[in-house]
Amino acid sequence: MIEAGKVYLVGAGPGDPDLLTVKAHKLLALADVILHDDLVPAAILALAGPRADVVNVGKRCGAKGATQSEINTQMIAAAQAGLSVVRLKGGDPAIFGRLAEEINALESENILWEIVPGITAGLAAAASLGASLTDRRKAARVVIITNHHAAGTAPTHPDWQGLAREDATLVIYMPGRDLENLREQLLAAGLPPEIPAAVVSRAASPDQAVQCATLGDLSSLPRIPAPSILLVGWSLDSAVRRALAANAPALLAEADLILSTR
Ligand code: SAH
Repeated sequence: MIEAGKVYLVGAGPGDPDLLTVKAHKLLALADVILHDDLVPAAILALAGPRADVVNVGKRCGAKGATQSEINTQMIAAAQAGLSVVRLKGGDPAIFGRLAEEINALESENILWEIVPGITAGLAAAASLGASLTDRRKAARVVIITNHHAAGTAPTHPDWQGLAREDATLVIYMPGRDLENLREQLLAAGLPPEIPAAVVSRAASPDQAVQCATLGDLSSLPRIPAPSILLVGWSLDSAVRRALAANAPALLAEADLILSTR
């Protein structure tokens, strides 16, 4: 089922090997070369076939890794040598994964390619929390967004006006460590301090952690390990109550007071 000389742009999902697609699993077992990001855990790389050349091309926390153009060069060289290549990215390759740039590079060399989607971290985070992002009683839209993006030449922060709506669930990738700043921006854009918020760290991995708060209390959360996702919205209401009840029943009374004032 794998073709020589082709690049498969594959989503590895959020970390749990059981959350890989069957197709991703098969391709890992058959590929000649696997070029993977840092976020892909060892348990998934262990599914590579015995002959596969497995190369980490990721960079994390500013550490020097392969540049985008070096990654493109490696993919192209392997495909041109007639090898089957899996370019393995955390989550879904099309969500904040520089997928379009890689496709452009492959097309410029007439290399065959195919996207194999994966479960993106935001959806895994919602599952960890036990929330429906589109609970129709609370949310009419889901905004998938990164706190840092590079639409122009320099990375900027999103313009929250118009995005931070009470009928939206915000799924914020790369929220960064400065939740205070994000909190201020979301409040300034008009969200109420009582709206539920949750930070999910290492979703779908054995050490996943979920922290719940309201937007107003967001910066009081202890720092939790990366990678993490911030969810904000009324659709998280019951999940946040459930988490608070499980972890700290005393806090629930406080949350009830806050949430019932809506
Ligand atoms: N393509 C990936 C996202 C890459 S951007 C996807 O679809 O999931 C990297 C960011 O994704 C991280 O900074 C973090 O915000 C988020 N992320 C990735 N894996 C995560 C996980 N297991 N738990 C929580 N957040 C995660």
